[in-house]
Parts: sequence; structure tokens; C-alpha cells
Amino acid sequence: MKFGGTSVGNANQIRRVAEIVKANLDRSPAVVVSAVGGITNKFFALKELLLQPSKRVEAAAKREEILNVHREILKDLSLSEDLVEPLFKEFEDLNRGMWLIRECTPRTMDYFVSFGERLSSRIVAAHLDSIGIPAQAFEAPDIGMITDDNFGGAKPLPGYERRIQEALTGIDKVPVITGYIGKCQIDKERTAITTLGRGGSDYTAALFGAALGAEEIQIWTDVDGVLTADPRIVEDAYCLKKLSFKEASELAFYGAKVLHPSTMNPARQHGISIRVLNTNRPEYEGTQIVESLGAEDLTLKSVTAKKDVVVVNVIASPMLDQYGFMKKISDVFSDHKVIIDMIATSEVSVSMSTDQNVDLDPVVKKLKEFSEEVEVKGDKCIVSVVGQLLGERRGIAAKVLEIIHEEAIPVDMISYGATRINFSFITGQEYSRKAIKCLHDALFKN
Ligand code: ADP
Ligand code: ASP
Ligand code: MG
Repeated sequence: MKFGGTSVGNANQIRRVAEIVKANLDRSPAVVVSAVGGITNKFFALKELLLQPSKRVEAAAKREEILNVHREILKDLSLSEDLVEPLFKEFEDLNRGMWLIRECTPRTMDYFVSFGERLSSRIVAAHLDSIGIPAQAFEAPDIGMITDDNFGGAKPLPGYERRIQEALTGIDKVPVITGYIGKCQIDKERTAITTLGRGGSDYTAALFGAALGAEEIQIWTDVDGVLTADPRIVEDAYCLKKLSFKEASELAFYGAKVLHPSTMNPARQHGISIRVLNTNRPEYEGTQIVESLGAEDLTLKSVTAKKDVVVVNVIASPMLDQYGFMKKISDVFSDHKVIIDMIATSEVSVSMSTDQNVDLDPVVKKLKEFSEEVEVKGDKCIVSVVGQLLGERRGIAAKVLEIIHEEAIPVDMISYGATRINFSFITGQEYSRKAIKCLHDALFKN
């Protein structure tokens, strides 16, 4: 049972979480928690302040704000601050260190943000205990979550299942585990905290669920389940009863924030279904994510958008009649650990899209060595319509293009792969909301 940021966002929400856990005690739950809602963003904001000498006062205020959010929850739940005092102290030491050296490497940043989940797990475990549900807080790095050293986007090393099982064998209290974090080995003696990427607590839950042979992996959040669109953009988006793993992976990868994109992998490998549920409406069945769908569930599922996308155009002619040209291009991206989201080719150019927030300069420099020209166009978004039905019902792609043409939304690139589960196109970021709204109106209303 994974509870996200808003689900543990204040004392009342934590009480709700405890009620939900209590109602499921006969199923021996393991609990995974995110940081208190908004806290991880505050860490990122604080980091920026700590790096600027002129922001001393603002940095101190932001740090106090973070501590106070937790103090208030502890007070509301009648828990002692002693519970988190050692973590507060460690956090303040780290603040001082970052302030002094005015530097924050990805490794330091992962350590910095880890306090969010480390604090929330202790608070939730203590609250469960205080209402008579024996519980124990665990930091995932201490119970088998050993990862690679890709700070900010780490993956567990093979064998995580056995390590986690061994660590939790014989624990009869409800484990309350930190989402989002793991640790890697730096050398013989030293380890460092890693994170699995923003929103990574969902992934943690799936990894623990898989390791423990769970009956189901539950993602408890602030909406009814996976909806036909982000309800913050489309008011009348509705909840889907069932999704396939493939559909959910596509949706998550292409922007639906409700699930971290890697969540489906361990669940799928171990044949465990996922259920997305609403902490504020626990009686509702939510969305079940399974391997294969019955005929009645073969419908269009959702429209989503991934923002902060950049398009890289590599121009070189002639190109496609040369062996290995695509390999040369993709090697450059993989050598620099840059993930390609979408790709389109012609005889004279290859267009690829990737995340705008990665440093593309070394990639572009390398690509220029064997092409005529490399263009980089930022502030784009990928809009995707997802559903296994896409391949079976003719005309959906045409309809999507017709609608966006009518709405005067320009198209930079299109992708419609052989599995026909996702029709995507790239447009300017400023069209993102409009595209989602008009596609939802046209494709999902009836
Ligand atoms: P948590 O803190 O519980 O992990 P997140 O904020 O990460 O919650 O994810 C839940 C949010 O995802 C929802 O509040 C909703 O705004 C957003 N969202 C985006 N796309 C979808 C979708 N297709 N279905 C449901 N929620 C979506
Ligand atoms: N707290 C982390 C984040 O905000 C992880 C999570 O919430 O899943 O990204
Ligand atoms: Mg999330």
C-alpha cells in the first residue's frame, strides 16, 4: 500500500491512511510512503537558495518552513518531536555544509531530498503505533534497496527481491517504508543515498510488492484512479476501471503523473496487478492494471501530454541508404545517457525528441561531427492518445489529426508505432492544454 504526498500531507490525511491500513490488516500490508505533500519541491527550492550567497535569509526561512510542516503534523498527532530530532539535526548539518561550499552535486541532492521520505515514514509508523497498530519505520536503503549510482534516476541492482525478503523476514509489525530512495556502493566502505526519480515512490511500492510476493500493489493517491485525462486540465475526465500494463506504461511515460513510468515493470514481471485508489474515497474500486484485457475493456483510455520536450533534428544527405547511420546517432545519445522519447526519419533527416532539462550540448557537438546540420528546438510537448483499441478501430489517427487541424494546433512530429497502442504528436508547449481538452471532448465524451 503506497500512500502519496497528499495522502500523508497533514495530520488528518495521516489519520485516514491509518484507517485504511487498519481496515486491511488481515491482508498483512506493507506500507510505502512519499514525503509529506509539497516537501520534495521545497527541498529543490531550498537548494537553489543555498547556492546563492545573497539568499541567506530566504534560505533560512525556507528551511524553517520545511521543519515547521513536520512539527505541526507531529503536534496535531500528539507525537513527540524527539522522534525526528536526529533527522532534523542531520538535515541542518547538511544545510550548513551546502551553504559553506555553495555546491550541490546530484549525489548531494539525493541525500538532501531523502529527508522527506525519511521523516514521513517515521511519523506515519509512530501514528499507527499510537492508535494500537504495531508498526515500524524502515529506510528502504537499509532493507535491500541497493541501486546503481545513477543519482536522480537510480534503478535497483538485480537480486533486490531476495535482499528485501531477507531483510523483512520475521518482522511482524506493519513495515512503513520510505518510497523514492535507495543507496549505492561508492567503494568498499562508503555508500550514498540515491533516488529513483521524481514520483519514484510508486516504483518503490512495485519493487517491494514484487519482492514480497504481494497479492496486489496498491497506489493510494488524491484522485479516483487513472482517469481519461488529468482532472486538473479536463474537468469531466472519468475514471477507468481497467488498464493493461502496456497502456499504463505508455500513459505514465508520456506524462500522466499519477504513476511513475517504471512502476509497471516489476509488477508485470512478477504477475502482480496494480490498483490505483483514492485515499479520500477508500470505498471506491479505483483502477486495476492487469496484463491482458477482456473485449469489454478494449476502449480508448486516456489523452496525456509530456512537457519540457526538445526536438533534435539531424540533417545529413544522403543518409538512410548508409548502413549504421541510425546506430551512430543512437550511440551518441546512449553514450551521454540521454533517453530518446520519439523518433521520425526521412531520407535527409532524423528527428528525435528528449527531455529539455538534460544538457544536450555534448550530444549536439558529437552529432555535428558526422552530419551537415543539427537543429535544436525547445519548449515542445508530446501529446498522446493511448488505448489498445487504437489498432482495431480504423480512423482514430485520422480523427486526431482532423481535430488538431480544426483547432489550428501545429504538428512538429508524429509517431504511431506498430503496436498501435499510442498515437503521439509533438507540438508547441503552449498548445498542450488546448490539445488535451479538444481531443478529450472529441474522443471520450461519448
Ligand atoms: P501522489 O502524491 O499521490 O503520488 P501525484 O500528484 O504524483 O500524487 O499524482 C496524482 C495526480 O496525477 C493527480 O492529482 C492528477 O492531477 C494527476 N494526473 C495526471 N494525469 C492523470 C490521469 N490520467 N489520471 C489520474 N490522474 C492524473
Ligand atoms: N517525494 C518524491 C517526489 O515528490 C517521490 C514521490 O512522491 O513519489 O518526487
Ligand atoms: Mg506521484
